[in-house]
Amino acid sequence: MTTPLEFLPGIWRLPIPLHVRSEPVNVWILRDPDGALTLFDTGIHAGAAELWPAALEAIGHVPSDVQRLVVSHHHPDHLGGTRALHELTGAPVFASAATIAKAPRVWGDAGRMETYFAELQLLLDWHGFPADVAAALGDEAAVAKLAVQLAPPDAWTELEPGAEIETRGHTWEVIPTPGHADGHIALHAPASGLLLAADHLLERISPAVGLFPHHDPDPLGSYIDSLERVAQLDVSTVLPGHGAPFAGARERLRFLVDHHVERIDQCVAVVRATGGATAYEVARSVFSRVFERAVLDAPNQRFATTESLAHLERARAAGVLEQRQDEDGITRYIAIDA
Ligand SMILES: [Zn+2]
Repeated sequence: MTTPLEFLPGIWRLPIPLHVRSEPVNVWILRDPDGALTLFDTGIHAGAAELWPAALEAIGHVPSDVQRLVVSHHHPDHLGGTRALHELTGAPVFASAATIAKAPRVWGDAGRMETYFAELQLLLDWHGFPADVAAALGDEAAVAKLAVQLAPPDAWTELEPGAEIETRGHTWEVIPTPGHADGHIALHAPASGLLLAADHLLERISPAVGLFPHHDPDPLGSYIDSLERVAQLDVSTVLPGHGAPFAGARERLRFLVDHHVERIDQCVAVVRATGGATAYEVARSVFSRVFERAVLDAPNQRFATTESLAHLERARAAGVLEQRQDEDGITRYIAIDA
């Protein structure tokens, strides 16, 4: 049984186990002054209908007490449960305009999911991702359907940057934090210094920043800007999307900026050393561990490739690299001063 963990009076963390990854995703439960509940993120669809009534009962609530579902971004583990929770509670779903626009394009219905994964495959083909590794990814749309079921279109309401959400003892301000996902938002309570950060800021892992179809063309540039923006906020404790709350936000933000700047340099160095390389070739060099495992790790090899692509595109936007389309249809990066 999954039980909410009380973090402060009126704030609980509910770690929800995922079907594909080992680390659970956190749903944050916030109690309003009148006893109504706001959820920040929703977990996945699979198991939601059984999990939620019991989890709410464990903290003395019933599903109809949930009055607001707030979604940080469009990734499966954060919005996959919107339909089950909307049906259970009747609560509207709040998200950024970009998330509301993007979610149905990726997860709208079964056919849409299949098209999305085909588009992703095409993008990877252009960047040199081998067909046999791609084949090992299997039927991802089928897996995604277990995780994501969207609330109906009329359930969604846009949250504008700077909008405020009141819960017991806290006023939360909507902070746009694009980068990990285009429409990503965090919620910041200036008076208490709490930051509901979702996947913008995690304690132990560097949040993935990759390039995907129909995407911000420079996600890493957006991510670094978001890190700098959040570094200006007064944050005493981060309530993250995965793992336990942690302090030291400013140091962690600084570390992540430095980490990405260093990784851009590593990617550019590979391009210079080889006289021109695909994103896949750069990934093999920069994330070599992921390619050395005995068992083919296709999902992480793809992550390494989309992540390298984001770094190469940052260097291209900065005027350091350019793209060359070869006759085989493959995109290679070359150094501009080469
Ligand atoms: Zn995410």
